[in-house]
Amino acid sequence: MICQNCGKALEGQNPRQRFCGGPCRAEASRRRRAEAVRLPLVEAMTALRQAQVAVEEARERLAGQGQE
Ligand SMILES: [Zn+2]
Repeated sequence: MICQNCGKALEGQNPRQRFCGGPCRAEASRRRRAEAVRLPLVEAMTALRQAQVAVEEARERLAGQGQE
């Protein structure tokens, strides 16, 4: 087993042990929380960008129709 945070080999044989110590456990959980906040934000930004592209395309289509 290795520490899930720093990759250091774990001394103990406890299969449920995932971190070499409290600081690594705390850092890993902090990182997981940060990720949980960041991912929805990225998805929202992607959706916003797609909406902007759709608006742009619709505007170009309308402009094209106006010239006909
Ligand atoms: Zn560690």
